[in-house]
Amino acid sequence: MIIVMKAGAAKKDKDEVLKRIRELGYKPHVIHGATRDVIGAVGDERGKHILQSMESMHGVESVVPILQPYKLASKEVKKERSIIRVSDSVAIGGKELIVMAGPCSVEGEEQIIETALAVRDAGARMLRGGAFKPRTSPYSFQGLEEEGLKLLAKAREASGLPFVTEVINPETVELVADYSDMLQIGARNAQNFALLKKVGQTNKPVLLKRGMSMTIQEFLMSAEYIMSEGNQSVILCERGIRTFETATRNTLDLSAIPVLMEKTHLPVVADPSHGTGNYHYVAAMAFAAVAAGADGLMIEVHSDPEHASSDGPQSLKPSKFAKMMEKLKLFAEAADRTL
Ligand code: PEP
Ligand code: MN
Repeated sequence: MIIVMKAGAAKKDKDEVLKRIRELGYKPHVIHGATRDVIGAVGDERGKHILQSMESMHGVESVVPILQPYKLASKEVKKERSIIRVSDSVAIGGKELIVMAGPCSVEGEEQIIETALAVRDAGARMLRGGAFKPRTSPYSFQGLEEEGLKLLAKAREASGLPFVTEVINPETVELVADYSDMLQIGARNAQNFALLKKVGQTNKPVLLKRGMSMTIQEFLMSAEYIMSEGNQSVILCERGIRTFETATRNTLDLSAIPVLMEKTHLPVVADPSHGTGNYHYVAAMAFAAVAAGADGLMIEVHSDPEHASSDGPQSLKPSKFAKMMEKLKLFAEAADRTL
């Protein structure tokens, strides 16, 4: 249920409402709107009619049901798009198109610092790089782990770019959160509910990737897991789904972008690197994602893709990335975005 407060309702009225929601066994989530606050009361659906009685409380305008199974992520709760702040200089979901770029895996100090400087100079606003890698094969490179996080922090220092990096299990959430500016939940973990809950207890923004066989509703339910723990800073990432097509690594579902824009207030970004699996197709799908309304892009960049520890075939060399960024300006402008 959503408890819509009157415009300008007093703080004491709001506190009473919060108290009553808790007494009834629900969890309140305050969502600050432009003119009024709304309070989502989330919990067992069966007894929700009890909440209806709160309509008579002071300062309450109305009590309305949330029809979607995802509540806090839903547009029903918050009509305005969310803008999620990652650092002093970077926010995702506003007019500026945010490009996050870097290698699939952190491989060494020189590699990550050089790449950070190159992508920054080409216009990227965030650095990406995996320190903990969720590999399909146990024999593949698993990442530099904490050493990788330290190198990412050095690259941030050198470039000024905040970074996003993946966290693959609940035990390392605090460690990864201590170093990083944004936590990434990968496609393989998109329904790891213990992990989603744990990142929901941090105060770091979370980049949630779509699982490879997830419907849009399931994707939003995963976002809901994070938000229901208190962390409202979720950014959704369309990274391709598995279909019958084998010419590309995945099928980048660009129609998910306008669908998500309609269903949720959360920002949506696209990852054409994992979406296609082939560097030849990355720029075209990056432009298309911006045309479809994406708030940002995640792009893999490697200076020596032939020798990359992971995902070389889909990584752009820095020079190709810079060319793509030049052309991207035109698409960004057409989509009423700055870059
Ligand atoms: C990655 O970003 O390197 C990654 C592993 O992505 P995904 O989870 O989308 O496969
Ligand atoms: Mn990768």
